[in-house]
Amino acid sequence: MAQIIDGKELGLRIKEKMKVQIPFLQEKYGRLPSLYVVLVGHDVGSQRYVHSKIAAAEWVGMNAHIIALEDTITEVELLNKIYELNDDPCVDGILVQLPLPSHICEAHIVNAIAKDKDVDGFHPQNVGALWQGTYHIVPCTPQGILQLIKSTNVPICGKIAVVVGRSNIVGKPIAKLLLDENATVVIAHSYTQNLKAITRLADILVVAAGREKLITADMVKPGAMVIDVGITRNQQGKVVGDVDFENVCQVAGYITPVPGGVGPLTLAMLLQNTMECFFLHTETSR
Ligand code: NDP
Repeated sequence: MAQIIDGKELGLRIKEKMKVQIPFLQEKYGRLPSLYVVLVGHDVGSQRYVHSKIAAAEWVGMNAHIIALEDTITEVELLNKIYELNDDPCVDGILVQLPLPSHICEAHIVNAIAKDKDVDGFHPQNVGALWQGTYHIVPCTPQGILQLIKSTNVPICGKIAVVVGRSNIVGKPIAKLLLDENATVVIAHSYTQNLKAITRLADILVVAAGREKLITADMVKPGAMVIDVGITRNQQGKVVGDVDFENVCQVAGYITPVPGGVGPLTLAMLLQNTMECFFLHTETSR
């Protein structure tokens, strides 16, 4: 029976450390790390995500602000808002909640965020730095996945890691992080033939496809570590991952649940990235 990797518990431990550290930052630098989340429109799902990010940032003791804008805002007006935040020395982290209304180009907005305030790690210069190995800011979900894997103390070096999914947000960056840990990495996607033959090779299997029960027990090598990134709402309205959890538990060595696996780490890494940006700013202003 697989050991459950508890993301809620690990996320809480990381946040508790920050909660202890942050008052000392106020003392040392005369200000608190601050996160600004830009929310355009009234999508209920986005509002929920934004509120949980703000609540988590406030819980650890950061300054956290929502900038709520109407979905009638033009791209130019939104860009001007971003430039304003870029120029404000009191702002450490800027996150624009995606998706944006269709009349606004997401790439234009993401690219406009100052790279040292880009807490999502989506700016092309931060992406380039990740691939060159010179990074400070790594996208939150892949960074959280790596923390989950490391929390088991199972060595990554020399292992075969299979990543199912090749998005810029999850698949590609986690593949690079695992490569940096000296895993042998395979990336699978919707054109991969005989997915089962590939996933069965994996000592570490990271699944980020957004397809309920894509990974069944017969696709998992006995004893493997399975990290389920997927979040979908099934026909019964239940939040589910990409892995057939009950059956894969019988085969895997370690597994993350959904919910309560990768999600809490994504949130914790957002706060960690805000801290990283704070240090970038305080160090350059000294
Ligand atoms: P995308 O839709 O951008 O990418 C999905 C990837 O999965 C694509 O590369 C796609 O291949 C691949 N894929 C889809 N179907 C199959 C299949 N049958 N076999 C093999 N590969 C397949 O999604 P994201 O990467 O943004 O997110 C993935 C999942 O993770 C979603 O459920 C999302 O909600 C969740 N998520 C969870 C987070 C968390 O904090 N827990 C954070 C971010 C995302 P191709 O490129 O060929 O189309």
